[in-house]
Amino acid sequence: MKIVLLSLLFVITLWADAHIFVYHRFGDSRHPSTDTTKQELIKEFQYFKDFGYKVIPLEKLVNAIKDKETIQDNWVVLTIDDNFKSFYDNGLEIFKKFNYPFSLFVYVEASEKRYPDYLTWQQLREISKYGSLEFHSYAHPHLTNMSDQSIKDDFSKGLKIFKKNLHVRPKYYTYPYGEYDKRVEKIAKSFGFDAIINQNMGAVGQKSDLFDLDRSALVGKTNLKYLLKFKYLDAIWLEPLVYPKNGVLKSIHVKTKERAFGASIYVSKHGWQKAKVNDGNIDKTVNLKLLKKRNRVIISINDKISTKLLMKDN
Ligand SMILES: [Zn+2]
Repeated sequence: MKIVLLSLLFVITLWADAHIFVYHRFGDSRHPSTDTTKQELIKEFQYFKDFGYKVIPLEKLVNAIKDKETIQDNWVVLTIDDNFKSFYDNGLEIFKKFNYPFSLFVYVEASEKRYPDYLTWQQLREISKYGSLEFHSYAHPHLTNMSDQSIKDDFSKGLKIFKKNLHVRPKYYTYPYGEYDKRVEKIAKSFGFDAIINQNMGAVGQKSDLFDLDRSALVGKTNLKYLLKFKYLDAIWLEPLVYPKNGVLKSIHVKTKERAFGASIYVSKHGWQKAKVNDGNIDKTVNLKLLKKRNRVIISINDKISTKLLMKDN
């Protein structure tokens, strides 16, 4: 009895908020940077099962946030970006075997123009018996580089062709390459999705923004335990808000309600460093040159994390 109770407590302490994950390709060794092997997928699915995680449809999580219902700590949502054939050939059977629901985000042009590596509309309709089909743009463009009108055109064209072929209106959207900023987000929201999901590592809690839900990528051999440990950090970002004009991130200023002496901050290509926390506030001068097109600044306090994505302008 004691052992059962102890192991139960152990399992409970591992849980922390809900988590959304994204896969891309399955059992496709030509593309190791976006691939999950069949063996690895089975291993991950078995992990969820063995440690009491419940894989739920995205809709259930979105509705719980909307209706202010409790977000269960053991909830896991599985998404797949890009309608690659490898999901149909190697992934779907494993999802079916575990009876795990999923949402697949469709890059419309690829199916419409029958690109060889992508699923046909017929295959997508077949897949929709097991999971939901959602929207991932028409042309899979780099949205932050485009004019307002071109972004809107991509949505309008893609949604029209999506509905014509799949006979449903997608409820959720994911950005191509996970690239967005406030302007892109505003345009995406105007197309009436129930939720928009980014590709910033993290967790989903009661206070998560439905139009900016964090999602961690599962590629190659992943450390699920590490990713599942993260909780959602309710944070107000004061700085940075946008990519700095000269490309130098001067300081990081974030307000939280956390009680902690220290936090960790991460900047892409610069790694982690320590920061002091005063009354829940982090205010640190960093003076770091941003080195990537997609730069992520992450704050971590008490295993809770919040991310700001800074997209370099062209
Ligand atoms: Zn994509």
